[in-house]
Parts: sequence; C-alpha cells; structure tokens
Amino acid sequence: MFNTVEAVKERLTAAEIIGRRVQLRQAGRNLKGLCCFHSEKTPSFFVFPETNRYKCFGCNEGGDIFTFVMKNENLEFREALRQLAEEAGVPLSDSPQRSAQAAARKAHISANNAAAAFFREQLAESPTAQFVRDYAAERGLDATALERFQLGFAPDSWDSLRTNLNKLGYNDEDLSAAGLLRSRDDRFYDVFRNRLMFPIADRRGDIVGFGGRALGDDPAKYMNSPQTAAFDKGGVLYGLNLARESIRESGVAVVVEGYMDAIAAHQHGFDNVVAAMGTAITPSQVRLLSGLAKRVVIALDADAAGAAATRRSLEMASGLSDEVPADAPGLESLTQHEDNLAAQIFVATLPPDTDPDDVIRADAAAWEAITSQATPLADYLFAAITDGIDPADFPARAAAMKQAVQIIQGLAEPAVRSHYISRLAASLHIPEEAIQREVRHGRRRTRNTPPPTAAPGPELRRDDYLLALGMANLTYFRTIAANVVRPEDYSCIENRLLAESFTRIEVNGEDGVDWLREQLDGSLHERFGQLERFRRSMPESEGEDLFADMQRAALRLRRDGLRAENRQLQLIQGEGQSIRADEALAERQRQILNEIREIEKGLR
Ligand SMILES: [Zn+2]
Repeated sequence: MFNTVEAVKERLTAAEIIGRRVQLRQAGRNLKGLCCFHSEKTPSFFVFPETNRYKCFGCNEGGDIFTFVMKNENLEFREALRQLAEEAGVPLSDSPQRSAQAAARKAHISANNAAAAFFREQLAESPTAQFVRDYAAERGLDATALERFQLGFAPDSWDSLRTNLNKLGYNDEDLSAAGLLRSRDDRFYDVFRNRLMFPIADRRGDIVGFGGRALGDDPAKYMNSPQTAAFDKGGVLYGLNLARESIRESGVAVVVEGYMDAIAAHQHGFDNVVAAMGTAITPSQVRLLSGLAKRVVIALDADAAGAAATRRSLEMASGLSDEVPADAPGLESLTQHEDNLAAQIFVATLPPDTDPDDVIRADAAAWEAITSQATPLADYLFAAITDGIDPADFPARAAAMKQAVQIIQGLAEPAVRSHYISRLAASLHIPEEAIQREVRHGRRRTRNTPPPTAAPGPELRRDDYLLALGMANLTYFRTIAANVVRPEDYSCIENRLLAESFTRIEVNGEDGVDWLREQLDGSLHERFGQLERFRRSMPESEGEDLFADMQRAALRLRRDGLRAENRQLQLIQGEGQSIRADEALAERQRQILNEIREIEKGLR
C-alpha cells in the first residue's frame, strides 16, 4: 500500500524541509526553533526526527512536511505534493498504479458483460446449442434459473467469442487481459470452448469472471477465469448478488460447493445459498458474509466433511487457526470480527454419496432439516479431532489435545472456552487444569502482540479503517468523526483531507463510491482508491452496526492521537524554556491522560 505521499516522506526529512524556513537547533533527541506560524520570543516549535513530524506547543500547529509546506507557503495539497515529489525525485503520474488497476477492473467487467451476453444469446438461440438446452433441462434448470443466473453457452470453436467481441470494439489484448482469450505464437484464441457458462458476479452484480462446465470430453470438468484485476476466485461467492437480500433478512447464509448446487437451492426458494466454487472456503469469503449473516452454514458432502484438508481450511477461514491468512487486513479493530467468525460458522454434513443439488431436488424439506440442524464449527472440529481415539494410546491423546487446545485458544468467549475445556478433559481423560494451563500459555503468547499505532507507514492504520467505514455512510461519518477526531489525529495528509472532504460533501440522495470519488480533488484519488480496495475486503455492515463500528474506530483514533501528543510531551520534557512552561506541559499531560481514560471507558 505504498503510495506517492509515503514515497516522498521516505526521502525527505522534516528536519531538512522545515530547517530551511525555521532556524532549528538540537534539543535532546529533537530540534526546536521559533515558530513560523505565530510570533514568539522563546522557542516552542519542535521537530521530531523519530516521527518526521513537527508541533508548536505555543499555537498548537502540528503535522508532517506536507501540512508544513501547505501552511507555510499557502499551497493546496495538490501543489505541495507536486513540489515535494519533484524535490524527492518521486515521479508523479496522473494515472498511478492504483487507478490503473481500477481502470483495468472496469475494462474487464465491461468485456465480461459483453461475453456473458454473447454466451447467453448462444444458449438461447444457436441451433448448435440444442444439446446444451436439452442437457440443462435434464439437469432441472428451468427458464427462470437460466435467466436469473444468466447462464450461457461457449460454442465449440476457437474464435467465435473473439470474432464477436472484436466486432463490438474489444481488442485482443483487452480480452486476453480479462481472461477471455489466450495467445500462442501471437495468435489469440477463446479460453472457454464447448462449455456451459456460469457468469460470476461480485456482490454488486458486476460480472467479474466465469466458470465453465465441460460439455464434451474435456478432462477439465470445470474451468474458471484466471486471476485478473477483477477476478479473485477466493474473494467472491457465486450467487451473493442474488442471495444478499435473503441472507440479510434471514440472518443465515448457506455455503455450498458448486454452481449447480447454488442454482438448485434458489430454484427451490432457498435464496440464501451461495457457492464457494471449491471445496475450501477462504477467509475472504467468510468475511464477505460476516457482516450480512449471523449464522454461516457450510454444507459439506460426506467425503469433504471427513477430510483433514477441509478441517484445516475451516480453521483458517474462521480465524481459529493461529496461522494468519495472507489477506487479513491486520487491524486490531477487525480482530473483533475475526473472533466472532468462529461463533457464526456451522457445519452441515450431507448424507453419503449425495450433493446439495441431489438433496434439494429430491426433497426440499430434507435440505431445510440438514441446514437448520447444522453443528457449531467448534463442535465439528472437536469431534473430528477426538473421535475414535483409543484411551490407551497416550501419544494420540497428547496430539489430539494439542490440536484441540489451538482451537480453544482461538475462541473469543471465556465461557465458550471453558465449555470446550471441560468437554476435552472428559473425552481425552486429561485433567481440566492441565488443559487450562496449556490454553492460557498459548493465548498469552499469540494474543499479546502490540496493538497497531498511528505511526505512519505502508500498513493499514486506524484512520484508514475509519475512512473506509465512512465511505459507506457520509452522514454517520460527519456526526461521529467531526465530534470525536481532530485533524492532527489522521496519520497522513491525504487521510486528513479525505476526512475533511467527507465532512464537507453534500449527500444528495446519490451515492456509491464512484460518485464519491468524483466529488474529490484528483490529488486524493490514489489514496481513495487504496481505501476503497481495503473497504471491499472488509465485512459489510450497516445501520446501527456500522454506526457503532465507526464510533469505536473514531474513539480509538482519538485515543492514539492523544497518546502521540503525550509522547511528544515526554520527548520535550525539560526542554521547555521556563519553569512555567514546564508546568503548563505537565498540566496538559494530566488532561491528556484523563481524556484517554474517558475514551477507554467508552470503548469498554
Ligand atoms: Zn506556533
């Protein structure tokens, strides 16, 4: 997430930039001088090389090199950025990497939409598609299902999609970047041939990729679009755009494996079903659901339910494994969601030799029963670990305990943890105290990682999280952020300006991220794009939940701002120009600590 502003700050120090305007001299680990923003005779303006920031304790001006140059030379951010980037030798392009990626995503979606229309038309009208229509009917796909899921047919040809989309103005390079064509020896050809096509939409309904089921004797029964700027198989759920409302209303999401399973469910009125498009559900997929559903039921066929690989993927997806998934946003604020994930997940096991498609078509009531009687994830994992262990086999018992303890450590609720400790003790014939000791030991080790601070850097910060939430509801943001957060609490100038813009922009019934982007100064688009990408990876929340999340995020950000101010005060202790100034600083420190205490009460 390194952007232009961060690259500039890597290369230019505050001491250097500010030192040209303000005469600075060493004061302990810091530099001080006469403030250029207010008139003074004794210096109360400090530069902190450690954080690359400045602060005047006389007039309270503070910030980084960008705010300094903007204020000192009366420049807009855009102008300050140009000036400092030039000085740092950081190239400024009008289409940085991020907006290039956003543009690519848009282009892929457009190509996919055109391809989906072509495939649909083939399935509906092409005389050569009669066998596909027969096949679909045989599989129980009625006209409504074909329409609702926009199913199509990719003809058995090397270039029919290519020729058709070329005519519509899509060139080979674009189609190939979108994953629809492949090239060999400079010749482009269709990726999907002789397949029943399932367009895959993101939660907003944009077609981001395809799954294709072989209709001939192709050994690859199912084939997906390759990873592109628009498509990441582990980051989408098939059917979520259609299932969203029903999931929200019922509070329950059911995850099946395949396209046909999801479609069959919808045909029988189970609109809350989505497909993971693979045996393993990913943490990103769980996160897509966690804001919508209180209960996520994962339907497994009997083989998958017994497999160790399934167990492992479920542990990972629910956050019960200590292995942090690579795509985790890595924010303390999100761990609360992560901790709750395990409590949300249930596992439904299907009868042997059936898949959801069979079960639903044979007997919808049976499906209803299977999913509503699903087992809590922790129970399922426990049974898988402890079932069939010979009490006399000590090494097996010890190994099982080790695995089970890891799961217990991942559970957020103390009461739930002690429930499983008792159960484990009983099933493995191990004293409860011994298990408790193991659990405590591990939790101390894995949970005591330092909380993220507001320190500038390429990783995600608290204010990133607050702004990402803010995008979803500017009215909430205005109410909360304007009252809780101060401009200097934001970790970088772009976030500070985004927050200002979010507070200023008139909401007029229009909404959506694209609309919001258009309201912003172009110099903020890069940062906005990064936050938007981050937002997409977060659990969705709205209404009261969103309000509460935003409020907590704002309070935490304010608390970090106060802590940072306190650190600065500690750094300049003894550097004040007089006893009276030192007393004033001590008074401010007391205030700060009081405010921090109040905030922590509010966060509890
Ligand atoms: Zn000042």
